[in-house]
Amino acid sequence: MARLYIDGQWRDSASTGRIQVHNPATEEVVGEVPDSSPEDVDRAVRAAREAFDGWAATPRATRVGHLRALRDALQDNSAELASMITTEVGSPTALATRVQVGLPISALGALIEALDTADEPETIRNSQVYREPAGVVGAITPWNYPLHQALAKIGPALAAGCTVVHKPSEVAPLSADALATIIDGIGLPRGVYNLVHGLGARSGAAITAHPDVDLISFTGSTAAGRKVSVAAAATVKRVALELGGKSANVILADADLPAAVKVGVANCFMNSGQTCTAWTRMLVHASRYDEAVELAVAAAAKYTVGDPTDPATRLGPLVSAAQRDRVMSYVERGRAEGAKEVFGGAAVPDRGYFVPPYVFADVDPFSTIAQEEIFGPVLSIIRFTDEDDAVRIANATPYGLAGGVWSASRDAALAVARRLRTGQVDINGAWFNPGAPFGGFKQSGTGRELGLHGYEEFTELKAVQL
Ligand code: NDP
Repeated sequence: MARLYIDGQWRDSASTGRIQVHNPATEEVVGEVPDSSPEDVDRAVRAAREAFDGWAATPRATRVGHLRALRDALQDNSAELASMITTEVGSPTALATRVQVGLPISALGALIEALDTADEPETIRNSQVYREPAGVVGAITPWNYPLHQALAKIGPALAAGCTVVHKPSEVAPLSADALATIIDGIGLPRGVYNLVHGLGARSGAAITAHPDVDLISFTGSTAAGRKVSVAAAATVKRVALELGGKSANVILADADLPAAVKVGVANCFMNSGQTCTAWTRMLVHASRYDEAVELAVAAAAKYTVGDPTDPATRLGPLVSAAQRDRVMSYVERGRAEGAKEVFGGAAVPDRGYFVPPYVFADVDPFSTIAQEEIFGPVLSIIRFTDEDDAVRIANATPYGLAGGVWSASRDAALAVARRLRTGQVDINGAWFNPGAPFGGFKQSGTGRELGLHGYEEFTELKAVQL
């Protein structure tokens, strides 16, 4: 469509620049979006500002009614959305359907359910405490789960009474166009939701610096998040950051090893490793280490790489040539730093930005591949001697997003989980809960998304004394 959605209408950009979108499996151009200028951002922010008072004054039940309509419309369009995300991100069809589109629909459902029963105001002695909308929200989202990350911000922001200017990643912006078309169909007042495209360093930075934006909700790399924080400080904006991770899957001596390794490998390789919560470090008790390495190699061998629309494919391409080259440079670094490559180098198609799965054993927990977010299908297996050692290694990165613990004893696993400095921990492969708070400790970010806790990020507390 190559247009922007501002003030309830599709509009041309003030800039004539265009950004091409590629299918990472074929390298073909599949679309283009405007390379928006700060002038476009300003138009969108003004529209959001003008819409704010009316939307903030709309009863919450009415706003949540719009979210219901949005969820239903997403459901009706789920097959097209999944296919579009396969085209722009390269996620295999089953993953695109179940996670890329299924997860945001269930997360919206969990939010609606939580808001249906959330009481307001809260009474504290002689005060009534209200949750007021935070204002105009700048939502800046990445390419790896483009629909989910957008809706994790847009859904609660709209429910809270905020208006939104959304800038998706220019690498995978087509699903954001589709989302704007769906939002256009649910009858929101003009200006409540606005979409601008463009590069982070230009249009993303213009949103972050804009004096009329009250809150920035950002998901992406820690490096970009740091820049967002600095830029937002000039106007003392509130900032919520969902950043990178280097999560540990801690497998204790008494764990069900085949399950722990199989699920751990699947978690690491999901979406070709382009997942912020990926368990990229598998920490295994020394007594089970060799067995775990063998199981991981056998599991990795089952990851067929290829055309993401082929049902037999488990690993699609990486999103771009830049990501492929970046991941391969980490593989080289792993070899150079002495990690043992126990699996890797499988054949990949000639065209497309493919990287085969890699498993490294005997990885030094302080080496580059064990410390930095690679964002590709690269697993590092690390040995530990006892639980204290496991916790020490698990916590020894700048990140703190997610993790797993496996043990025959739920209490033992829970005790380790409580010691991990991360925002999420799954015990024995427990399911992801789209209503639970999601976010990071340390350099994995600030703030939480999803469910009632995610909603609260988009509100300001007001105490009224009676
Ligand atoms: P970025 O963090 O650079 O991009 C995320 C979003 O932020 C995009 O919409 C981007 O725009 C925008 N952005 C970038 N710079 C700024 C800025 N200065 N001000 C405002 N907005 C900005 O991710 P990349 O796509 O460059 O990926 C690089 C690495 O980041 C990956 O290899 C991975 O390690 C990590 N990453 C982590 C994610 C996570 O969920 N934890 C998600 C994505 C990436 P645009 O893309 O249009 O430039």
